Amino acid sequence: MQRVRKLGALTFVDLRDRYGVTQLAFNTESNAALADKSNKLGREFVIQVQGTVAERTSKNTNIPTGEVEILVDDFTILNEAELPPFMIENDTDGSEELRLKYRYLDIRRSKLKDILLTRAKIVKSVREYLDAQEFCEIETPTFIKSTPEGARDFLVPSRLVQGSFYALPQSPQILKQLLMVAGMDRYYQVVKCFRDEDFRGDRQPEFTQIDCEMSFVSQDDILNTFEGMVQHVFKQILNYEVGKVQRLTYNDAMKFYGSDKPDLRFDCKIAELNTSLPASDFAVFNNTIATGGLVAGINAKGCAAHSRKQLDELTEFVKASHRGLGGLINIRFNEDGTVKSSIDKFYNEEQLRAIGANFNAEKGDLILIAADKIAKVRKSLGDLRLHLAKENKWIDENKWSILWIVDFPLFELDEESGETIFVHHPFCAPNQDDLQYFDTEPLRVRAQQYDMVMNGNEICSGSIRITNRDLQKRVFQKLGMSEAEQQSRFGFMLDAYKYGAPPHGGCAFGLDRMVMLMTGGETIRDVIAFPKTSGGRDLMMDAPTTVDEKQLKELGIAVIKPTE
Ligand code: ASP
Repeated sequence: MQRVRKLGALTFVDLRDRYGVTQLAFNTESNAALADKSNKLGREFVIQVQGTVAERTSKNTNIPTGEVEILVDDFTILNEAELPPFMIENDTDGSEELRLKYRYLDIRRSKLKDILLTRAKIVKSVREYLDAQEFCEIETPTFIKSTPEGARDFLVPSRLVQGSFYALPQSPQILKQLLMVAGMDRYYQVVKCFRDEDFRGDRQPEFTQIDCEMSFVSQDDILNTFEGMVQHVFKQILNYEVGKVQRLTYNDAMKFYGSDKPDLRFDCKIAELNTSLPASDFAVFNNTIATGGLVAGINAKGCAAHSRKQLDELTEFVKASHRGLGGLINIRFNEDGTVKSSIDKFYNEEQLRAIGANFNAEKGDLILIAADKIAKVRKSLGDLRLHLAKENKWIDENKWSILWIVDFPLFELDEESGETIFVHHPFCAPNQDDLQYFDTEPLRVRAQQYDMVMNGNEICSGSIRITNRDLQKRVFQKLGMSEAEQQSRFGFMLDAYKYGAPPHGGCAFGLDRMVMLMTGGETIRDVIAFPKTSGGRDLMMDAPTTVDEKQLKELGIAVIKPTE
């Protein structure tokens, strides 16, 4: 029971279930026994009703069942309910923490319930598409050996072999590749993956992937197959035509949008100015260019009238420690036709207009320019672009930006250690044309690797895989793995490549994120039945918890008490 309302001799109850709400009407005037019984009813009671479906005299056209009600003859209380800890209504008064603790009550709200129902439809639609393309769903084990995806493993201690541990899969990556070696040709699985990461942003320690792999394919075959899947699912679930999915190289994405997951629902491209700046003795620009840095900017359309304070806020935004710019230069193309700039001293109006031409600046536009190391400028302007879009409401929420990013680099340098690390995982195949740089300039080697980006979120990653044993060993070596380590961690995989491995590749979609975007959820917690908090806790079951001494002993484990 959602609510009870008394109106004179009539009692109305909204009866809620998975399918919607039905109004019950108790005419207590003509039936004293019913009147008596119905006085006991309260919110969230579970009842069974006998009565007659009738047309309502006053109809509610806002809900599908608003034209009818049930005139109740009799009812049974199947279970009573205490007053719930928060209002089970769409506009609830419950904090997220409280609602996570009582998740089973929260799912009674139609917002969450509807998301879970849509999630099931999305998965069904995915399966339909993949089944029609002859993909075979195969389960892979959860207790395995480490599969590196760049995160920490969750470990499961073995009781039978004390001191040994299984790792939970960060993904079924190696197993799906071995299924290709096994000749299974087209595999998929809707599968849980586990990554023990510091909880930056909107992540869950366990999440669901639509994991796929295909043999005898080129990168284009894979991109076409999976954009087909997205087209199918969007048409079925949202009646939206995705159309051909645009492809953008990683280098262009970084150059024009400062991000490998750009949101293209609005324009605001980065323009580089190194080769087009008018001559001047402005040391900041000149020094940046002389030392191999980048001078670049964006056009904040229609923001020329920003106040001093607003401009200062934008400067503070790019100066934040994780962006690290020293400042931001502005040129304002005012509505009255004048041009004003924070570098008026170094450039005359004509020169400022020439700079503005790189951005197609018009009256009312604000040009924001940064000068620093290339990566810093790109990241800061990329973030600033998103920030401005949010602030100025440039994003049309009815639009979708879905694209592939292709040609990722194979390796990158770890920011902290300076070591060469993989960008995606160590099984991605290098681009054949770049193998010549493998030993001399490894950072120049592109991988046959791609991501799908949806409204600025990475929702799918994949690659063509290495299937040559020697090349796989060269990559392991480049990642600093000794021969012994290669053998102990991946010997079984290297062995498999001795026995005829078909060329193959694949990808994995993050189902939670995809459902979140398709249902308008704000966080992935909104689309998972029983999620963890951002700190990795299950507030409902209260996990993780300590375990009995006896259990630890059986496992041969001693816990070092955490220091307070
Ligand atoms: N295993 C990869 C991931 O989890 C996806 C893939 O390369 O197919 O991102």
